[in-house]
Amino acid sequence: MLRRHIAPHSFALQHVENRVSLTDTSFAPVIIISIGCEIIRRFNLKNLQARTWALRWRNPALCRALLNRAMDARTVPALDGRPLAFNLSWLERWRGNFKTAGELAEVAFQSMSKQSDPEGWAELLVVKAVCAYSVGDHKLADEFLKDGFETLGPHAESGAGIEVLTILATLRQYSENYDEALTHLRDALQIAEDTGLYFEPGRVLHNLCRVNCLAGNIDAALDAGQQSVEQNRSRRNAIMLPYAEEVYAGALVASGNYELAREEAEKGLRAAVFSDDPRVTCQLHFAIGSSYLKERRPADALKVFEQGLKEATAFDYHLWIRNFHLHLSQTHEAIGTYQQALSHLKVYAEMQATQFKVEAHRQSYELRSQLEYQLARRSAEYERELRDQSVRLNTELVQANETLQMLNRRIEHNALHDALTGIGNRRMMTQYFGRAEQSDKSSDEIAALLIDLDGFKSINDRFGHATGDEVIKVISERLRTLLLDQELLVRMGGDEFLVASTVRTEQGELAKLAQDILDRINQPIDLPGDQGAVGASIGISVTRIRPNLERSLLQAADEAMYAAKRSGRNQAFMEPAPAKTGS
Ligand code: GH3
Ligand code: MG
Repeated sequence: MLRRHIAPHSFALQHVENRVSLTDTSFAPVIIISIGCEIIRRFNLKNLQARTWALRWRNPALCRALLNRAMDARTVPALDGRPLAFNLSWLERWRGNFKTAGELAEVAFQSMSKQSDPEGWAELLVVKAVCAYSVGDHKLADEFLKDGFETLGPHAESGAGIEVLTILATLRQYSENYDEALTHLRDALQIAEDTGLYFEPGRVLHNLCRVNCLAGNIDAALDAGQQSVEQNRSRRNAIMLPYAEEVYAGALVASGNYELAREEAEKGLRAAVFSDDPRVTCQLHFAIGSSYLKERRPADALKVFEQGLKEATAFDYHLWIRNFHLHLSQTHEAIGTYQQALSHLKVYAEMQATQFKVEAHRQSYELRSQLEYQLARRSAEYERELRDQSVRLNTELVQANETLQMLNRRIEHNALHDALTGIGNRRMMTQYFGRAEQSDKSSDEIAALLIDLDGFKSINDRFGHATGDEVIKVISERLRTLLLDQELLVRMGGDEFLVASTVRTEQGELAKLAQDILDRINQPIDLPGDQGAVGASIGISVTRIRPNLERSLLQAADEAMYAAKRSGRNQAFMEPAPAKTGS
């Protein structure tokens, strides 16, 4: 990947050198653009791979030309799989349009993958970090860079790693934490040298020079500055050269070597035409001007600062317009032209006041939108919580209702059924009689057969209560099989059962039913270690269906049953007719 970038770059610069020297730069941008286009044609680069070269030359004009060509050709994304928005984002970052760069980075994130291209992803995070610190949010910038490191993981030893470290160093430099800034830059330099990246060492050295200068390490700054200039020159990086010259000249001014400072800055100015960047031009003018001022040659300084102000005004570059007004004011003061000094100072003060106002407005606007955002987020969270809670409560309510219904059904069932045998109980019998009383068949009859097991106590006594229970269950099951559809079997309690019927009321039918019942009850029953048989006494009564029939019907059946007991058991008696129906 690296080779591909270096070869055409050298090729381009050779052409530049053949036709124009680095100091004769009037045609250089035009030539660079045409060479860039030639590279695209020759190497059949129909895609955005070319942007990497353009970016490495630090030439926004060429970069723009290449990207526009790529867009015109409606090509697919670059070979490295990065979308157009990625490249445009970088371009805008270089042109200083940080807001646009950040927006483009967001677009690029959507069509890129953190896993398959961690370096590209980290580069976009660097763009986001630059955007964040450009609006003063250093904390957010820090977070983006931290995220960048995490994304890179083992890929940190790369160009992308150098980017992250360099921007991190810049952040630390802003907060005057020079030691940490220098550590990051030394790490970046190490990576640049280890990986053999061609242009990066010069760029990192340039940053090292600046930070050392700010930290007061003038010797180290001079060393780094000189190396940066040499690297950029020997590696033919015409675009980076003026930046290196600018920081080196700054360090020379700080060391008191004014003559050499001016020489280097002049070289920088001649090379600056490649970079198409007003920042570096202004800085170089400033280095020359301040060297004169320090040498107590204010008249010379004045000319340079005025030239600088002209350049800054042409680019509408507020920061440097302000700076030059301030320095012009100081210079006029040194010369003794106080009127002019005052007027420059006034402009400076006005601009500074406007800047403060803009900044205060921006900050209050940002604070307000941050508060509004937080408020909206909180209320959204609160609403979501409420919604979740009401859904949860509803589910619980539905479950509770179901449980209640189930319990109700169980209670209803228990109210009408015998717990041991599962057949009906006395309450069901009363219901049955009630329904019969309310039916239209008031002229019809109803029969009751009261069945009491004979000598049941002795089963309990001999085999235990549990066996007694089993016997009751077996007999209730046997009785159930004898019933017709509209007949009823209930357990009255203890060893007593009742069959009620509105469909079999004839004497003969009932006698037959009673006999069937006795036959079924008398069938052998398995008892522990034995096989026994149970007998029963049955009292039958029949009455016409009429209101309040239960009492008299049961009383008659009861009397008949006791009559059966008294007459020897295991037989059926009928009331009121005392006819013996059993054996
Ligand atoms: P009889 O021949 O005169 O009917 O006398 P019996 O031994 O069958 O006793 P009786 O009908 O007078 O009383 C019923 C007995 O059944 C009383 C009690 O010991 C027993 N018993 C009542 N309820 C249960 C029960 O749920 N399980 C068991 N195992 N025994 C019961
Ligand atoms: Mg009994």
